[in-house]
Amino acid sequence: MLRNFKLATLRALKTSGVFDLVAASRWRQNRLLILCYHGTALEDEHQWRPALYVDPRVLEQRLEMLKQGGYAVLALGEGLQRLQAGTLPPRSVAITFDDGTYDFYSRAYPLLKQYGFPVTVYQTTYYMDHPRPVFSLICSYMLWKRRGVVIHDGKELGLAGPLDLRTEAARHRVVRGLIERAEREDRTGLQKDELAAQLARLLEIDYEALVQKRILQIMNPQELQEIARDGVDIQLHTHRHRTPEDEAQFRREIRDNRERIEAVACTRPVHFCYPAGVYRSKFFDWLAQEQVVSATTCDAGLASAGSRSLLIPRYIDNQFRTPIEFESWLSGVGALLVFRQAASQTYIPIET
Ligand SMILES: [Zn+2]
Repeated sequence: MLRNFKLATLRALKTSGVFDLVAASRWRQNRLLILCYHGTALEDEHQWRPALYVDPRVLEQRLEMLKQGGYAVLALGEGLQRLQAGTLPPRSVAITFDDGTYDFYSRAYPLLKQYGFPVTVYQTTYYMDHPRPVFSLICSYMLWKRRGVVIHDGKELGLAGPLDLRTEAARHRVVRGLIERAEREDRTGLQKDELAAQLARLLEIDYEALVQKRILQIMNPQELQEIARDGVDIQLHTHRHRTPEDEAQFRREIRDNRERIEAVACTRPVHFCYPAGVYRSKFFDWLAQEQVVSATTCDAGLASAGSRSLLIPRYIDNQFRTPIEFESWLSGVGALLVFRQAASQTYIPIET
């Protein structure tokens, strides 16, 4: 109901010329819209996790809207600098992708290149050197593939009772059980991958075929190097996609992440994005000490000169957004209406 009301409001505002008025305003010119994407589906990942994945056709439609609407797509660093200097061109936008998955390399990047738009990838690096699917995600994906089924007994996987795969909440409990087991047994990445393969056997899924397709995998060093050479901006997202509460561990995440990016992409990353959008005030000092100059969140908003440099808002685009919602954010109307303050964080973050 609220959603219908929202969409009707947006349509009325567009028809009456408010979108154009706001897009051309001084207010909008002094703001940078930073778009946030995660994955671009290789197959059906956008149906499994619409908040995390987009259909490549949706991504292409968005890029076309940016082009047709005359938006100035800037590199993130340039956009942030010009935001501070007050020299942004009208309708400024920056495009960011979190995590640096293989599907960025094979699906999203070719489209971005076709449109000639600069892009920033916030790269998490642990899985870069472990060419296997991200454990928590592949378990969730395989369980979704068998949705509707109840597996008689989970004993084989070390889980008590039957495995109910009929609802998202029940499947989530199974994933949690597997993650907890892996943590309890202090499994290495490879040992966790064996557990995922075991789950696949129980679900009668060809695990090796999924691995070959590179579904839910991070880019490997060769791929990252190739796109970096091609001009893709590679920035920080922690090594293991986590933000420990302990200072030494937190700063180690930044350092390990930076070290791997420097070694592979041959650039020094200084921009950061909070994994899963989670931030604490104590992180700000730690980030500053690691010479991080900006940090983006998953909180919805347009960046202004008044935004704190380590709390820069973005707009998460995903499979749920309709074209008019997306357009409302490009124009600035979406941010002015703010139907919802923070972005939904219903996805499971990558855990190593
Ligand atoms: Zn992430």
